[in-house]
Amino acid sequence: MKALIIEKNSMNILLERFLEEYRVFGPTKPGSDSTFDEIKSIEQLHLDYISTVLPPKKFFLPPNETLFSFNIKNGKFTTKEIRPDEKILILGIHPCDVHALLKLDKFFSGDFNDLYYQNRRKNSAIIALNCVEPSEHSFCRSLGTGPFLNEGYDILLTDVGTNYLIEIGTSTGKRLVKGLNLTNASEEDFHEKERRLKLMEKKFKKSMNISWLPKIARENLDHDIWFDLGERGGVAGSFPCLSCGSCTFVCPTCYCYEVYDAVDLSLKSGTRNRELDSCQLLEYAEVALGGNFRRDRKDRIHHWMLCKFGAAAGGKNSSCVGCGRCIRVCPSKIDITEVAKALRRG
Ligand code: SF4
Ligand code: SF4
Repeated sequence: MKALIIEKNSMNILLERFLEEYRVFGPTKPGSDSTFDEIKSIEQLHLDYISTVLPPKKFFLPPNETLFSFNIKNGKFTTKEIRPDEKILILGIHPCDVHALLKLDKFFSGDFNDLYYQNRRKNSAIIALNCVEPSEHSFCRSLGTGPFLNEGYDILLTDVGTNYLIEIGTSTGKRLVKGLNLTNASEEDFHEKERRLKLMEKKFKKSMNISWLPKIARENLDHDIWFDLGERGGVAGSFPCLSCGSCTFVCPTCYCYEVYDAVDLSLKSGTRNRELDSCQLLEYAEVALGGNFRRDRKDRIHHWMLCKFGAAAGGKNSSCVGCGRCIRVCPSKIDITEVAKALRRG
């Protein structure tokens, strides 16, 4: 199908079409920061955002959710699964966050077949938006996860001046624009897209060289940097890690969670729930009889960095997409790109 264009001030045409079929979530700007929230009218939508504090991961892996309820009645034990089935559309999701979802897709449909996550993904549509202005902390370009997207979208929008260029990625995307009175894109629109990509690539302030990084990280398990990060500070001006867990909670690819039961006072009914967990927290690696595999902060931040560098799980699962959120929120000014540089010695 040919690509289309839509005038920026006619975006309500697209939104109204999406709202016929889906609950729509997109970037809003309630205060100084942008956030993904429900969009019911075009006035709420702020597509010219740089980054959001929390990634759109929250729509697919909520911070907490009930998995099923259970009940004992007349001596009989029954369970009722609470399977998400709502149709949602994420509008204006940036390339790094789409790549994060692709990584989560692999995790939740590999060894761990997570039907809750999968159902949400199956019932969703992704309307991605290429970035034309990087955040001061992002480095997606080094990781091949941005600033422009080649996969993972139903529809892809690119700001080409007064219009958005609309490219279709799937049959869902095709269906969503069918019958709308939109103009075909011209060759100039694609030239403008190319021009903006080149401009954008020059704007990044951060980068991370990932070649050999998993191997380097694995072979430097006793490097002083882990002690500096956990206890002493001083990695490119950082303070010691506070183990606050903020970096993991804002990370679009962190998927660790905890499962617990909430039982009512009669002990006859309850719910099984899960909530996001963080490997930076002391309790994360706690086991029976007070044992803890990662009691020291240096071991916890070390473990997290190894995971992000792709050095955990046999180096197969690099889970950084370069969004820069962890750098932005860290109260101790710990910067994953500086840690990579220090490990590589430059
Ligand atoms: S590690 Fe940091 S930069 Fe990388 S994906 Fe997570 S939050 Fe983004
Ligand atoms: S946000 Fe910074 S201080 Fe908090 S756990 Fe992460 S690295 Fe440590």
